[in-house]
Amino acid sequence: MADLARRLPDNAPGPFFVDAGCIDCDTCNWLAPAVFDGAPAGGGHSRVHRQPGDAAARLRAEMALLACPVGAIGTEQKHDLAAARAAFPERVAGEVYHLGYHAEASFGAASYLLRRPGGNVLVDSPRFTAPVVDALERLGGVALMLLTHCDDVADHARFRAHFGCARVLHEADVAHGTRDVEIKLAGEAPVALGPGLLAIPVPGHTRGSACLLADETFLFTGDHAAWSPERGHIYAFRDACWHDWQELRRSMARLAGHRFEWILPGHGRRCHFPAARMRAELQRCLDWMAAA
Ligand code: SF4
Repeated sequence: MADLARRLPDNAPGPFFVDAGCIDCDTCNWLAPAVFDGAPAGGGHSRVHRQPGDAAARLRAEMALLACPVGAIGTEQKHDLAAARAAFPERVAGEVYHLGYHAEASFGAASYLLRRPGGNVLVDSPRFTAPVVDALERLGGVALMLLTHCDDVADHARFRAHFGCARVLHEADVAHGTRDVEIKLAGEAPVALGPGLLAIPVPGHTRGSACLLADETFLFTGDHAAWSPERGHIYAFRDACWHDWQELRRSMARLAGHRFEWILPGHGRRCHFPAARMRAELQRCLDWMAAA
């Protein structure tokens, strides 16, 4: 819970605030951009740059409060958060939902639910908390949990224990806490996980990073690729590349051979283009990577 006594001085005056516990994960900035942004000059935290001016902005701010992985967003007075709770999981498109309730252990990465007739898929781990568990139960449970890489596994074991879902992780990213995952990917060849579901190893950000492609439409990228509003193109995290940048480039080039329309990242912004435009955007990303 946020602490008013630790309210950061660069918050706009008013009821919502960010406190000194902020880890600068960026979640509030894309979830409620009308209210939150990163502090100027890379202050290492986010802030309220403008207090919500209407009910819609207030709801987004309350959703950010619930999603914040460290409880660093607060309000001066107690707020009724029922509407924000009801707004998660938030449908992105088709049967893809953003779950909210980001986990600190995943540095606030987004996680998604993909509803499927053959069993739902959870992509990366949100916080294991009652609103998430209740929502997942309401939406049909979880049959499969795709872990895009070792950094975003958070509460995977608790979801496995509750839902009995099989977990998928590349063997190169398996560590002590994930050694018992049920399905371990190997090598670089894509693996079919079910009808229309393809796990695509993309080594680079980590040695065992993988994307999940659903129905040649939705690409869940973990920390492999995201949209950059500042740059105006798809990018990869050059400064947060934990394994090998050249390998990441090769993975991005292989990814360009697949058809998809959405990029749904753990960190960074989503993007949606028709497939032909997406292919062109990936080429722009590759051109940028060659010079980065
Ligand atoms: S969601 Fe929380 S931790 Fe993340 S940037 Fe916003 S205030 Fe900081």
